[in-house]
Amino acid sequence: MENDSLIFSVYCYDELLNDGRSKLPYEACGILSGKNNQIHSIWKLKNEVKSDRRFFVGKKAVEETLLQIALKDEKVLAIYHTHPTTAPVPSYTDIKNHRESEVKMIIVSYKTKNPIVKCYCVQNRVYKEWPFLIKPIV
Ligand SMILES: [Zn+2]
Repeated sequence: MENDSLIFSVYCYDELLNDGRSKLPYEACGILSGKNNQIHSIWKLKNEVKSDRRFFVGKKAVEETLLQIALKDEKVLAIYHTHPTTAPVPSYTDIKNHRESEVKMIIVSYKTKNPIVKCYCVQNRVYKEWPFLIKPIV
């Protein structure tokens, strides 16, 4: 399903990696929004629990971000978070908390020297890898 691949701009992809790195040793999290399958914006959220195993963002912060996204006439394409010390595989909690199958799950792992980015589609608590590309200019 090549046509359904999520498309990152280089900028958003770099910012995603930067955000994750800057929040180490804790988990980072945020939202990626855009149009069709193209990511135009990255919204770095504050992980309200300082943890390397989970993340939590308050309702208010999420609602404010969703409003900003709507104002830009974009929609939420993916939610990202990082795994500072473990593989980029969704945990039981990740799956349980991910309710919308339309929204992709992105996990960045810093377990290895070079971070690994994985994208997943989660449906009925089952996840599968989803393709993504990085485009120089969007
Ligand atoms: Zn996780």
